Amino acid sequence: MAILMLPAKRVKKARTYNGAEVLKRLQSFLDNNTENLVQILCGFWQDQQYAISYQELREAVKQGYLDEAVFQQWSQDYAHLVATEISRAWMDAIVAGPSGQPVLDGSPFVYDTQTPGILSWISEHGAEFVTSVTQDQKDAIAALLVKRMKDGHTVDELSRLIRPCIGLTEGQTKATANYYDSIVENLKKEHPRMKQESIRKKAQDAALKYAEKQHRYRALTIAQTELAFAYNRGADESVRQAQAQGLMGELRKRWCSSGDMSVCDMCDALDGTEIGMDEEFGFKGRVLFRGHKLLPPAHPRCACAVEYIEVSPPEF
Ligand SMILES: [Zn+2]
Repeated sequence: MAILMLPAKRVKKARTYNGAEVLKRLQSFLDNNTENLVQILCGFWQDQQYAISYQELREAVKQGYLDEAVFQQWSQDYAHLVATEISRAWMDAIVAGPSGQPVLDGSPFVYDTQTPGILSWISEHGAEFVTSVTQDQKDAIAALLVKRMKDGHTVDELSRLIRPCIGLTEGQTKATANYYDSIVENLKKEHPRMKQESIRKKAQDAALKYAEKQHRYRALTIAQTELAFAYNRGADESVRQAQAQGLMGELRKRWCSSGDMSVCDMCDALDGTEIGMDEEFGFKGRVLFRGHKLLPPAHPRCACAVEYIEVSPPEF
């Protein structure tokens, strides 16, 4: 009787790793790369602030709105920033993505970062980013003009308050204006003989410092979130490529949140959720780009990650 010889099947044990390691590697990437992007964003907003003249600001205050041409210019500024600095930061994060996955440690896979999937993600997400940040900036200044007109501040006062708010969100802009008002009120109360002009000058200086802090906070939020978006997409792309190269079997992805006190309820609920590679995590919020819900982050500053689990070895 002949014995049928089957080709030897390469047997590989399915691997699982602790999500804590995945999170640690993401955090370390963010710690090392966020500051550079923060500096770029803060410098960019400063340039935008100086690009608008005091005369233009006075006109805006008198009209009660900023000229449409200013918004178009802001949109172009952002598009340029995305095409240069931010795209580079996204690409660096995409390149770093695979180093965050223990399942790929020591794997001889070849990582191609110039695939249509990666390039179209950068272009689609880039366009969405430009639209959304320009709109935020537009809303912020509009809210300030409306609020100030109602509260009866002078044209000069308001014109000087707009500039430091360029680059802030609506909420941050309102907070800066309220801060300015509170300083004025306090000075009037505590120094009834102080000249009006001195009061305004002191309040302006204080509001400027306040706005600077807000810019830094916003830059940090954007930098962390954008780097996490790209890093997680890089990790996902790389395990798919390793799989396509026959180095990995069937994969699933598991949501990992740090589980400490800083995790929000939404991410805490997602922690440990395990789904197929093409399924979406069911977190709430607006869809920012195609495939947004396939991976973390779920919200600004979310530092969650995905752990890839090989549920069965590759078949040959
Ligand atoms: Zn999260």
